[in-house]
Amino acid sequence: MICAHTRFDSGVCGHYDTAPMPALRPDRVDVDVLAAEGASVERRYRLDQLSRLSDLLAGPGGEAIARFSFAQVAGSVASCELAVEAVATLKCQRCLEPYEQPLASCVRLAFVAGDDAAPVVPEGFEAVPTDDGRIDIDSLVEDELLLSMPIVPLHGGGTRCAETARPAVTETCDEPEPETHRPFAQLQDLLKH
Ligand SMILES: [Zn+2]
Repeated sequence: MICAHTRFDSGVCGHYDTAPMPALRPDRVDVDVLAAEGASVERRYRLDQLSRLSDLLAGPGGEAIARFSFAQVAGSVASCELAVEAVATLKCQRCLEPYEQPLASCVRLAFVAGDDAAPVVPEGFEAVPTDDGRIDIDSLVEDELLLSMPIVPLHGGGTRCAETARPAVTETCDEPEPETHRPFAQLQDLLKH
């Protein structure tokens, strides 16, 4: 049996500041082995390594840290708690300038056989189908980051962008309809002559 801890220590940790970054290899782990060991796994990623996420970024850099705590639940169901944190550079949809968006997610996952039509999923856990008992942990991390992305990226409160946006909205609502927006009134005047 491959020692899980040795495999994890040989991962991408510590190498992410050397460019160019090689593409991620599929990082498939055996969830039953890790759950039986109660293994803890920590991984760091450069966000531009994650292909689906990188399309949404407005600038290079940014990294994510993911912590997996594997355990057996409800008897022998392999599960893990996954906590992901990152800071991504996104484009603000109000001022179109890049800004740094913190992302955070914590989820409890129960691993089920991919061909199991009625899997046993303990309450409070999300079912994740495995591929013959294995999962790609990089893909799970990327899924969680994508789910924690804001639907509309915007500068947060306290920034100049957020402060200047507020009065603009109020003015638009309170402004009376200007006289010049009545072209037919003018037309009627012309027809009198
Ligand atoms: Zn903005």
